[in-house]
Amino acid sequence: MIALVTGANKGIGHEVARQLAEQGHTVFLGSRDLKKGEEALAKLSDPKNMEVVQLDVTDSTSIQNCLKVIEQKHGCLDILVNNAGINYDTWQNVVNADLSTVKDTFDTNLFGVWEMIQTFLPLMQKSGYGRIVNVSSGAGAWSSQTGGTPGYSLSKIALNALTVQFNNQINASDILINAVCPGWVRTDMGGSSATRSVAEGAETIVWLSQLPSGGPSGKFFRDKEVIDW
Ligand code: NDP
Repeated sequence: MIALVTGANKGIGHEVARQLAEQGHTVFLGSRDLKKGEEALAKLSDPKNMEVVQLDVTDSTSIQNCLKVIEQKHGCLDILVNNAGINYDTWQNVVNADLSTVKDTFDTNLFGVWEMIQTFLPLMQKSGYGRIVNVSSGAGAWSSQTGGTPGYSLSKIALNALTVQFNNQINASDILINAVCPGWVRTDMGGSSATRSVAEGAETIVWLSQLPSGGPSGKFFRDKEVIDW
């Protein structure tokens, strides 16, 4: 299978890419800074089945170039993990939020994912097979719309809704699309006090990337269980 993971130069995305490659898939590691991606790859003891591709999900030209690379090399994409995300507004609340920061957050966490799916879905529709995993967050639940990080929380609840809307358009085929909360994971975003390792955070994402035909779609998962949002 051919897989693409966005934001794969570090954190959860890097671990998801590593695990998918270990399981025999050919994996493209999207990295908005090519050098960072190459450096991350060089640190792996067994980087086989992996290739770095420049990919900034807020840049249409970069997305189109990434599509060209994958189309020319393989003509198909089986697994798309929309992992890249930002959380820049931990210090603010909805009353005093700097809306330019909120808009930046939406550009990456919602519109970036949206454009990625619009761009790569035709390849999946051509082959009739696809697994799309949108890395969301528990912050994307109604119960989380009360406190800080308004831009992040709203972008993730919108991402969950986007997942449902895409599912409603494509659910007649063997293309499955789901959202997932990885839990609180020790990364640059999650911080060093987080309770989970990147391997634990990657587990359900990797599982959703390889769901069998007839598996669930349009759902929100945590720890391989459907959860409410
Ligand atoms: P990190 O900050 O460690 O990594 C984020 C990755 O996304 C980096 O590779 C970063 O690249 C990349 N990225 C950011 N913006 C863009 C962009 N415009 N285009 C392409 N890549 C981009 O975060 P995590 O690994 O912790 O988070 C991964 C996902 O998991 C996110 O969607 C996050 O919201 C979600 N999540 C994480 C939790 C946690 O506790 N860690 C909890 C719940 C959800 P660069 O290195 O260049 O900045």
